[in-house]
Amino acid sequence: MNTFENLNLNEQLMGAINRLGFKEPTQIQRDTIPLILNDKDVIGESATGSGKTLAFGAGIIKKCNPGEGVQAIVLVPTRELAEQVKDEMIKLSYQKQIKILAIYGGVSINPQIDDLRRAEVVIATPGRLLDHLTRRTIDTSKVKIFVLDEADRLVDMGFIEDVEKIIKACPTDRQTLLFSATIYQSAKQIAETYMKNPTMVHATRMVDPTKLEQKYYDVPSNLKKELLIHLLKKENSDLTMVFCNTRRITDMVVEVLKVNGIRASSIHGGLTQVKRLKTIDLFHNGKFQVLVCTDVAARGLHIEGVTHIYNFDIPKDPKDYVHRIGRTARAGKEGLVMNILTQRDYGNFARVQDTFREFSIQKEDRPYLKMTIKNPERNSSRRSDNSQNRRNYGRNNNNNRFNNRSNNGNSRFGKSSSNSSGSQRNFKRRY
Ligand code: ADP
Ligand code: MG
Repeated sequence: MNTFENLNLNEQLMGAINRLGFKEPTQIQRDTIPLILNDKDVIGESATGSGKTLAFGAGIIKKCNPGEGVQAIVLVPTRELAEQVKDEMIKLSYQKQIKILAIYGGVSINPQIDDLRRAEVVIATPGRLLDHLTRRTIDTSKVKIFVLDEADRLVDMGFIEDVEKIIKACPTDRQTLLFSATIYQSAKQIAETYMKNPTMVHATRMVDPTKLEQKYYDVPSNLKKELLIHLLKKENSDLTMVFCNTRRITDMVVEVLKVNGIRASSIHGGLTQVKRLKTIDLFHNGKFQVLVCTDVAARGLHIEGVTHIYNFDIPKDPKDYVHRIGRTARAGKEGLVMNILTQRDYGNFARVQDTFREFSIQKEDRPYLKMTIKNPERNSSRRSDNSQNRRNYGRNNNNNRFNNRSNNGNSRFGKSSSNSSGSQRNFKRRY
């Protein structure tokens, strides 16, 4: 039987898990928790939203004791994720007096220095943790568990050297755990160098495809915003995330949504930490419906009630696609993903399809928005007669007539049609 009782957890953890209302362990939890409790090094790969935090969190909570210094370090790629993992771990530590601390940059370091003196578990982004190491404001000599959460992203974001320095500062007889939804070569290299005979555990590799409907539209670039607004207004959705590839596009999209009466807000790496956390909080609490974001928000965040994901741009790196869509259809719920493609996205989209052949992304008939704006960057003589409608853009949404103009022929993204290689490296990205 698949129960938490079979996992050799203690009474305290069973109490905390009961309190969280979890009935049975997810596959990754079932397969990794016994290994982790047995002090094994583990590489865990499983779908986003499959409960990896509890998988490593339970081991940490069971093994760390009050008053014995920092005994566990969890490295995560983003500040938001540090907060989220910390919150989840605090719930797991219910009725156990251990201090769990999130450490990240963009906020004052002094309170962290004080807190670190009393912490038993530290969830950190690599940069700030390294800062503490350099200042000798963290003692890593008692660390017995070291976790890389979203390991491939840590590597991809260029944290590899920081991560290595931090690992080296920990005792060699520690346990090392590595978790991610997608574990690629880069993360495996860390495993080979710094882990002891790690056991590889693969649970469902991707987002559960049966829970997730994926669609794409192929539109001229001057219709991209119109289509987004149309779909946002038409779809009966709960919380919605709109992903863009750059900060600039994120800002542009959130502005256009706002003037069209859609309650939207944005997060990306250019905003202060306080603002980012506040925005996520408001979104979480349903204070606005549409979160427009860059990939900084895609990793690991669990926001209850996200039913729709829009890719306003298709990400350059196919792995980001998985992480974006992993924000919905989490923990057994259903979700819908809409990709809005223009010519510029074809290459990226083909790479996504090449990399994740198990996905079925359905082509939707291209709607025709009669009253549209002309994209200033593009010269479209065919639509120039609509230019007088620009000022009405979006306001008379009810009048926007979409024809189900049929798309002749098959998708140009047929699996055989792509000749691009799956792996993309060295993108200079600004989230
Ligand atoms: P991942 O890290 O794999 O992307 P998370 O650890 O963020 O996933 O978990 C996703 C959500 O599922 C969280 O809200 C978490 O509390 C919940 N969850 C975790 N384990 C279980 C479980 N056994 N049963 C039900 N929900 C769970
Ligand atoms: Mg996670």
